[in-house]
Amino acid sequence: MATVAGVAVDPGHWIGGERTGSAATFTDVSPIDERPIAEIARGGAQEAEAAVAAAHRAFPSWARTGREERARLLHAIADGVEKRTEELAQVETADNGALIRSHRRGVMPRVAHNFRFFADRLLGLGHPDFETRGHTNHVSWDPAGVCALITPWNAPLMLATWKIAPALAAGNTVVLKPAEWTPLTASLLADIAAEAGLPAGVFNVVQGYGAEVGGPLTAHPDVKRISFTGSVPTARTIAAAAAANLTPLSLELGGKSPLVVFADADLDLAVDLAVEQYDNAGQVCLAATRLLVESSIADEFAERFITRAGRLRQGDPREETTDIGPQIHRRHLERVDGFVRRAKDAGATAVIGGGPNEELGGLYYRPTLFTGARDGAEILTEEVFGPVLTLQTFDTEEQAIAMANGTRFGLAATLATGDPERARRVTDQLVAGTVWVNCFFVRDLQAPFGGSRQSGVGREGGDWSFDFYCDLKNTVTAPWVR
Ligand code: NAD
Repeated sequence: MATVAGVAVDPGHWIGGERTGSAATFTDVSPIDERPIAEIARGGAQEAEAAVAAAHRAFPSWARTGREERARLLHAIADGVEKRTEELAQVETADNGALIRSHRRGVMPRVAHNFRFFADRLLGLGHPDFETRGHTNHVSWDPAGVCALITPWNAPLMLATWKIAPALAAGNTVVLKPAEWTPLTASLLADIAAEAGLPAGVFNVVQGYGAEVGGPLTAHPDVKRISFTGSVPTARTIAAAAAANLTPLSLELGGKSPLVVFADADLDLAVDLAVEQYDNAGQVCLAATRLLVESSIADEFAERFITRAGRLRQGDPREETTDIGPQIHRRHLERVDGFVRRAKDAGATAVIGGGPNEELGGLYYRPTLFTGARDGAEILTEEVFGPVLTLQTFDTEEQAIAMANGTRFGLAATLATGDPERARRVTDQLVAGTVWVNCFFVRDLQAPFGGSRQSGVGREGGDWSFDFYCDLKNTVTAPWVR
C-alpha cells in the first residue's frame, strides 16, 4: 500500500475483482514538489490480456442484469465517491497538481454526477416504435461487450468516469488504463466500486505505460469499443491498432481553440473569460488559447488582461487561495518551455510570463501571453497544453471567423459579444464541437461533447454516449396473424 496525502492507495492492478501486482513497477511523482509518492505496478501485455479476459467473462451476466439494478449500482458508486470526496480531492491534487479547491468543489462532485446522470439516463433510454406498412420497427440498445477506456492525466478521474459511467450503464464491462503520470484515483475508484457491490470483472484497472498496456489492449479482438481521450499522435496509433479488428472508436483529442472578442462585448466579462484560460495551469483541452480581439479595443483589452492576470496567485495547489499550480511533469514543463522559446526566436513578444517561475522553482510556469506572432507560427498552430496564450487582432467579422477556423483542430470556440444576431451568425460558421457565447466551460451532460477535424472522432454525452457504447438493433415485426 502507498499512503498519499494520508490516504491508503493500492498500487496494484484491479483485475477480476482482485488486486494483482507486476514484476516491474514505475515511480509516480507528485508535480507539487517532484517527490516520489508511489511505486505503481507496471502492467504489460499479460495484464492487459488478463483484464480483457476477466471483463469478457463478466460481460454476459452484467449485460443481462436489469436496468434498475445497474442504475442502483451506479448510484451506489456515486454515494461512495461523495463519501470520499475529500480523500479523492487530496490524492488527485497530490498526483496531478491541479487545485484542491477545484477538486473539492467542481471535479469530485462532477465525478459523482457522471455516475448519477448516466444511471438516470439509462432508465429513460428508449425510442418510440416506427410503423412501416403495419410492421413495427423497435429500436433497442444492446450492450457491446468489453470496452477499453484510455485516459489522460489532466483531469484523471473526471475524464475516466465520463467514459466508465455510460459504458457500465449500457451493460458493458470495462478495462480502464489511466495515464501513467496520474494512476492513483483510478485505484481508489476500484475500491469504491467494489464496496458498492459491483460484481467482479465488470470494472478493471490496468496500470502502466501507454504502449506497454494500451497497445495490447487496443489491439485485442475481444475489445468491442475503445474510447480514448488524449493527444492526436496517440490517437493515430490507437486508430491503427483498432483498424485490425474494426473496433469502433471514440476519440476526444486536443485543440487550439479561439476566444473571439468583439468590440461590442462586455469587456470585463471578456477579460475574465480570457484569464480563465489559465485554469489548471493551462492543461485543459478546451482552453481558448488564441485570443482574437477586435482591433479597436485590443489595447484596452490587453491592458486590462495584464492587470487581471497579474492578480493570479501561483503556488502550492493544496492551498485554497492558489489560482495556478504546477505543470504535471518535468518533461511536460520542458515541452511547454520549448514552445515558448521557439515563439520568442520566431519574433513573438511575451508581454507577460515567458518562462518558468524561478521564485517558486519546481514545475511552476509563469502565465504567459504572446503578441506579435507571425501568421502560421508554431505558437499559433500547435497545442501547447500549458499556461500560454496568444493575442491577435482582427478588423471584420469575416476576418474573425476565418482566423477562428484557421486551425486543423475544432474542439471548441468562445465568443464575447453583446449582439445576439452576431452571435448566431458567427456560431453558424464556426467549426467546433462546443461553442460558448459569453461564458466558458458550462455544459449539460445531456449535450453532445467532442471535437471536429483533428480534435476528435464521434460525440459522447447524453444519448450519444449510449449510441457509442451500444450495438443498436432494429427489430421489425410483421403484423401478428391470429
Ligand atoms: P497522451 O496521448 O500522451 O496519453 C493519453 C493516454 O494514452 C495515456 O493513458 C497514455 O498512457 C495512453 N497511451 C499512450 N500511448 C499509447 C498507445 N500506443 N496505445 C494506447 N494508449 C496509449 O495524452 P496526454 O499527454 O496524457 O494528454 C494530453 C492530451 O489530451 C492533450 O492533447 C489534450 O488536449 C488531450 N485531452 C483531450 C480532451 C478532450 O476531451 N478532447 C480532454 C483532456 C485532454
